[in-house]
Amino acid sequence: MVNILIIGGGFGGVRTALDLNKKLSSEEASITLVDRNNYHLFLPSLYEVASSFGLDLNKEEIRLKKTIAIPFGEIFEDTKVNFVQAEIVSVDLNKKEVRSKGEKFFRYDYLVLALGAETETFGTAGVVEYAYKFKSVEEAVFLNKKINEKYKEAERGQRPLPVRFIVVGAGFNGIELAGELACCTKKIAEVCKLKNKCTEIKLVEAAPQILPMVYDKERAMIRKRLERLGVEVLENSPIEQVGPDFVQIKNGPRLNADFIIWTAGIRASSFLKNISGLKLDERGKMTVNEFMQSSDRPEVFGVGDSAVFLDPATKKPVPALAYVAVDQGKVVAENILRVLKNKRPQEYRPFYNVWIAPVGGKFAVARLGKNFTVSGFWGWVLRELVDFRYMYSILPFSKAVSLMSENVAVFTKND
Ligand SMILES: Cc1cc2nc3c(=O)[nH]c(=O)nc-3n(C[C@H](O)[C@H](O)[C@H](O)COP(=O)(O)OP(=O)(O)OC[C@H]3O[C@@H](n4cnc5c(N)ncnc54)[C@H](O)[C@@H]3O)c2cc1C
Repeated sequence: MVNILIIGGGFGGVRTALDLNKKLSSEEASITLVDRNNYHLFLPSLYEVASSFGLDLNKEEIRLKKTIAIPFGEIFEDTKVNFVQAEIVSVDLNKKEVRSKGEKFFRYDYLVLALGAETETFGTAGVVEYAYKFKSVEEAVFLNKKINEKYKEAERGQRPLPVRFIVVGAGFNGIELAGELACCTKKIAEVCKLKNKCTEIKLVEAAPQILPMVYDKERAMIRKRLERLGVEVLENSPIEQVGPDFVQIKNGPRLNADFIIWTAGIRASSFLKNISGLKLDERGKMTVNEFMQSSDRPEVFGVGDSAVFLDPATKKPVPALAYVAVDQGKVVAENILRVLKNKRPQEYRPFYNVWIAPVGGKFAVARLGKNFTVSGFWGWVLRELVDFRYMYSILPFSKAVSLMSENVAVFTKND
């Protein structure tokens, strides 16, 4: 029997584990997934948690967290996958041994590194100290609480209006968050009986345009929607310093803010650098071949944000996206099976030209093909269906339905 060890229970790791569970019997393999958390985090809805409205977070914080933090116990119930909650601190590729905090050791024959990514600050002064990070459920809930507190202070006359937000980075994350913040703060202001201009939201982007990776037609739709929601978009505005209540634009103005939220970038898990003998690219991601194997360690596979895969068509790395990680997880599971059966592994063929960007409330822009874009309410419906499809791919039908209906109930309170 072989030992298969997966580190990281994100989109890539969970898919690998569930597919291996289907493909291999318990006599053939032992499958272990280790994650530092006891839940799988559905990052695409993190912005909804930060900007949810109408829950009393003194009593309902857990309810809010459960919308996107799905217990591994539920995902791996009735499977052969052995889940262990532990933080991995070292990997010895020669001994094929992994160590976690608390000196627990895991031996493997095949290792899957699915550690995800971390916030990238690009060395900008003050980001670590002063900006709200936006990568974990705790960070999103904390931000939500702080936002509510600020409006309560204004209601009591303890601070001036408007409450000012700067969202740094106009990629999908920044856009989704800025749009939804506009909806949520409008509701909070209504409840606090605040009038006139209560909120100012600026979306600041270093590049010449927001969403550099999308087509002009869709960019225009998203920009128009943001403007309708009252979000001011600032392009060509690289930030050189973040302070306690300001950002300094390089060769530009100093912008004051109550909330500076950093969504400007991600980098590979810095843990990878500690793995002696693992080949990384210049940005610290593990390099993989066409079979998603580490360049010179065929028993080590990489998936998702911690691996760099060059698209043969463009010669550029495939983007860090949830469904890309899922596709890679499928390929890794298949290839472990093929290696075990002495068959030629399957090549990973990247596909990432469709996307759906929610922009505040029940509105999304969905690019579904070369000349096929859906926007508005039906874009939002599509996004809900895609999210449901994902939930159903990792949970039993009844649990997926109940999670999705809870999410719609919680997340649409601010629409
Ligand atoms: C705010 C936000 C919004 C996003 N929205 C979208 C979207 O709408 N659509 C889309 O396609 N993509 C989206 N993405 C990108 C997508 O979430 C990632 O590409 C995807 O999560 C990558 O999957 P992964 O398996 O590589 O890593 P992750 O899903 O990040 O999982 C990594 C796992 O590894 C665990 N881990 C890390 N280090 C250790 C350790 N040392 N020991 C044990 N466990 C460890 C972590 O706890 C985590 O569970 C978003 C990302 C963010 C941050």
